[in-house]
Amino acid sequence: MRHTSGHTGNRRSHHALTAVDATLCKDCGALKQKHRACSGCGKYKGIDVLAKKVKAPKKTKKEKKAATKSKPKAAKVKKVTAKK
Ligand SMILES: [Zn+2]
Repeated sequence: MRHTSGHTGNRRSHHALTAVDATLCKDCGALKQKHRACSGCGKYKGIDVLAKKVKAPKKTKKEKKAATKSKPKAAKVKKVTAKK
């Protein structure tokens, strides 16, 4: 249905973008968004929250076998609860 340019203007009155609220990171000095972790150093309020976890290299089948063989069997210890 055709509508007037006024209707279009009314609808588009809510399309304006707002500026991003940016501050300088206290740790590295990079520009960052408020209330967000720094993309430069990955810190938020001085705590490293975006630290990447480094995975240990995968063990081969031989290494896995060797690891299981060398382990001494743990002695079974039954928990004895004291009863009166
Ligand atoms: Zn930073």
